[in-house]
Amino acid sequence: DNAQPKKPDWIRVKAPTSEGYRKTRDIMRDNRLVTVCEEAGCPNVGECWSQGHATMMIMGEICTRGCTFCNIATGRPQALDAFEPGRVAHAVEKLGLKHVVITSVDRDDLADGGAEHFAQTIRAVRHRAPETTIEILTPDFLKCAPEVLEAVVAARPDVFNHNLETVPGLYPEVRPGARYFHSLRLLQRVKELDPTMFTKSGIMVGLGEERQQVIQVMDDMRAAGVDFLTIGQYLQPTPKHHAVRRFVTPDEFKGYEQAAWGKGFLMVSATPLTRSSYHAGDDFARMRAA
Ligand code: SF4
Ligand code: SF4
Repeated sequence: DNAQPKKPDWIRVKAPTSEGYRKTRDIMRDNRLVTVCEEAGCPNVGECWSQGHATMMIMGEICTRGCTFCNIATGRPQALDAFEPGRVAHAVEKLGLKHVVITSVDRDDLADGGAEHFAQTIRAVRHRAPETTIEILTPDFLKCAPEVLEAVVAARPDVFNHNLETVPGLYPEVRPGARYFHSLRLLQRVKELDPTMFTKSGIMVGLGEERQQVIQVMDDMRAAGVDFLTIGQYLQPTPKHHAVRRFVTPDEFKGYEQAAWGKGFLMVSATPLTRSSYHAGDDFARMRAA
């Protein structure tokens, strides 16, 4: 049954029109960069871009996985572009970003899953924009030797984010190419490699999970040492994607937020429009000031 519940009025999206939005769009186009903000049809794009905040996607627009919530094309990806780290760094500098989120498609076709390309991109941004804090949102490197993670951590991003996306029971239908405990272990390993690095993860709700399962995921994350948590409403990108089973109410989100603070996360964002990268820079600035 693919009948969709009606979008409630707390999921309201403002049309992007501001000057800051146009400037960000132009700089991304000029540097041939792909943003998740556009690819995922993110409801926050007007707000984020008008504040000079964006999430860039590296290593191409074609993914080797086919998660059922995701609008990125699946197939055989393009070859890596050795100039891409430089173009990302140039755009970050030109946009004067305080905080940048860098993510990628999954590259199961590459022996290191793209770990070295991630590391090069972090180093290039650090070099050109030393004041910008860097958050990476990585794939799970499932098919790679465990050591590839070390190259990424050694490049010293400020925040290492890897999303669990949903509760383990829904992995077969939501994230078929991934393994819940592998992703959890990856987050734990980052903390072991560098205990000073902030780690972050997130899930979407409204995919059919139960409250108790969400609470369990929070406990699993804390056991793996995860510092920051995001929880947002899943929205269906097209009718072919995983159905929205329900719209979680703002009150239920508040309940999740309170539960998460109680479990000791250092930063929690749980609202209908929360995305993995929503207000990430503000949160990080607050953390550093604390
Ligand atoms: Fe882009 Fe993230 Fe903001 Fe959405 S929340 S517009 S993906 S930076
Ligand atoms: Fe989308 Fe990431 Fe899944 Fe690829 S691995 S289909 S980019 S969510």
